[in-house]
Amino acid sequence: MPIFSFLYRILVLVFVVLIFRRILNVFTKNRKQTESKDDSTGTANPMVKDPVCGMYMDSRLAVRLDSRSEAFYFCSEECKKKYLNRSTGDGMGSAAG
Ligand SMILES: [Zn+2]
Repeated sequence: MPIFSFLYRILVLVFVVLIFRRILNVFTKNRKQTESKDDSTGTANPMVKDPVCGMYMDSRLAVRLDSRSEAFYFCSEECKKKYLNRSTGDGMGSAAG
């Protein structure tokens, strides 16, 4: 009967596709695991980013500035001053340095 050979072909095709998807899944899973492993650090203190120079540092070592809605952290008083000058300044298009 020709219908049997037809069904057999479909079954083989489905099987091959399933195996391929499994192999791809393994690869993507391995990638995700290594990425998440790199993200978690052993320290309990969160790292904060200086919005002025873009440096990451320990929040306890950083210079803190409490805003109305959130807190900002800076690597030094200099960066804090720069940030304050930027946010309170009237000119929007002055970007030097
Ligand atoms: Zn800084």
